[in-house]
Amino acid sequence: NVYVAGSINQDIAVRLERRPQPGETVPGESASFGLGGKGANQAIAAARSGAAVELIGAVGDDRFGEELLADLDTEDGLSTAGVHRASNTSTGVALITVDADSENAIVAVPGANAALAPADVGDVGMEDDAVVLSQFEIPQPTIRTFFEQAHAQGARTVLNPAPAETVREDLLERVDFLVVNETEALFYADGDSKGQLSQDELVETAAALRTHDEQVVVVTLGEAGVFASTPSETIELDAYAVDPVDTTGAGDAFVGAFATALGDGLRLRDALDVGAAAGALATTQTGAAPSLPTRAAIEDLRAD
Ligand code: ADP
Repeated sequence: NVYVAGSINQDIAVRLERRPQPGETVPGESASFGLGGKGANQAIAAARSGAAVELIGAVGDDRFGEELLADLDTEDGLSTAGVHRASNTSTGVALITVDADSENAIVAVPGANAALAPADVGDVGMEDDAVVLSQFEIPQPTIRTFFEQAHAQGARTVLNPAPAETVREDLLERVDFLVVNETEALFYADGDSKGQLSQDELVETAAALRTHDEQVVVVTLGEAGVFASTPSETIELDAYAVDPVDTTGAGDAFVGAFATALGDGLRLRDALDVGAAAGALATTQTGAAPSLPTRAAIEDLRAD
């Protein structure tokens, strides 16, 4: 089983020629609405890849919150029993504007996600072979309590510290698997290098990121595949060859499917491979949640 404590957002995506100046109104070309938030996306990714998933989170006591919960409830294997309705704050919203150059500019309002408190994750019962997963769209003290509870019950913890922000040491100590993309790796390693990391830089970065002896550091590298470093070995996997149409959701697909595979008891290399297949498949369709692949699709690609 996989337990995800994380964000749930209403995504509102608007296409426009150019963004308005202060005081100006411009016409937009189209609008679309979708379920988003890294917590929700990764929970869906884990469920589609075959895990029984419990999502712990918060939405507002508003129409968006109601609809998002209803959407999440249509996912097989995903329970929203741990999602509560917060009063006094809105559902989290991501207002995404995409201009004529396909450049994104996003306003993210955390809303109810910021109100997810340690008490909300403090008494989640789990099996000793469970995997728990969080990202940085909910408060770090909440994740810390969640991971503490997980370890007390023998479960393993996966942190995807995205979007990048300064990490509290007392949280990092409780992370068994740290999963970052290249941008986040550069941020957390605090090095001088920009852009693509060389093999040596990856090894150095992973060593710099590791906070305790048992910790596994995973760096996803887009079409360059995935890199993982444990205290005893370095694993590098090539990306699966696909024809990408939209890379949105690749990271979430990877993390969710990786958590499922760990929960299934796969060894690290195989769990990374499952994640890489899920990430590759997510790039072959547009959108975030709609592009997250099923277990059957992942197994097909891996068997090819
Ligand atoms: P993020 O979406 O967080 O930036 P990545 O781009 O690193 O994350 O994607 C996560 C994983 O998905 C990669 O490690 C890789 O295995 C897979 N992936 C991403 N982009 C591609 C691609 N263009 N072709 C094949 N696999 C991809």
